[in-house]
Amino acid sequence: MRRKFVAGNWKMNTTRQVGVDLAKGLAAALGTGDLGVDVAVCPPFPYLEAVKSAVAGSAITVGAQNCYFEKPGAFTGEVAAPMLVDIGCTWVILGHSERRAILGETDAVIAKKTATALSAGLKVILCVGEQLSERQANQTEAVLNTQMSGSLAGITAEQMANIVIAYEPVWAIGTGVTATNEQAQAAHAYLRGWLAKHYNPQVAEVMRIQYGGSVKASNADGLLSQPDVDGALVGGASLKVDDFVPIVQAARKSK
Ligand code: PEP
Repeated sequence: MRRKFVAGNWKMNTTRQVGVDLAKGLAAALGTGDLGVDVAVCPPFPYLEAVKSAVAGSAITVGAQNCYFEKPGAFTGEVAAPMLVDIGCTWVILGHSERRAILGETDAVIAKKTATALSAGLKVILCVGEQLSERQANQTEAVLNTQMSGSLAGITAEQMANIVIAYEPVWAIGTGVTATNEQAQAAHAYLRGWLAKHYNPQVAEVMRIQYGGSVKASNADGLLSQPDVDGALVGGASLKVDDFVPIVQAARKSK
């Protein structure tokens, strides 16, 4: 039985105070006991420590939205994976479509970041997903195959225990358009099959695959009750307590 995992990707949003208030609000709403699901928030780099302090005592963990693939050194403006561990991060999001499209990150770069993050002791949320034109051209599975092969190059079956895959169709991110339950399930089933083929059935069985793309309270129940949907990576709806908590509750009650 895979434990559901809901993560909030705050992207380049909030101020320090707004982020701390949001984190405190989530911690208060979700309480101190075992939630029955994993919950993480991923604020911008400058607010990681403050948010980590704000959720102290709760079951909420904290993640970063990126890291560099080199060891600490002369890389102006970059953040090394061990630095994130040093300040208490559990997770790092890698391969987000905004970084692929806007920052030009390739699968090869993402693979290097994934290996470095895992070596440093971080757990990785690895994002994959097709663009609208690719879906319309029936290339979704081909795109996912390329991204999975490229972004996981060199990653062993043992290392996969510290990875979560996030299926995020690019056309659904921040658009208000969500994949249907059936579209999400089909892509997740493809990804699980890919893992069985390229790793082994055990890796496929235990791998958590989150759905991301305009998840909100009103569609979370349907998406999270799909058999291969093991949680959600949430952007816009992670920025308000009243929007995010119902998604966590939907994950808790989904089977
Ligand atoms: C995301 O950026 O990972 C995301 C899923 O965003 P949104 O929920 O706003 O579509």
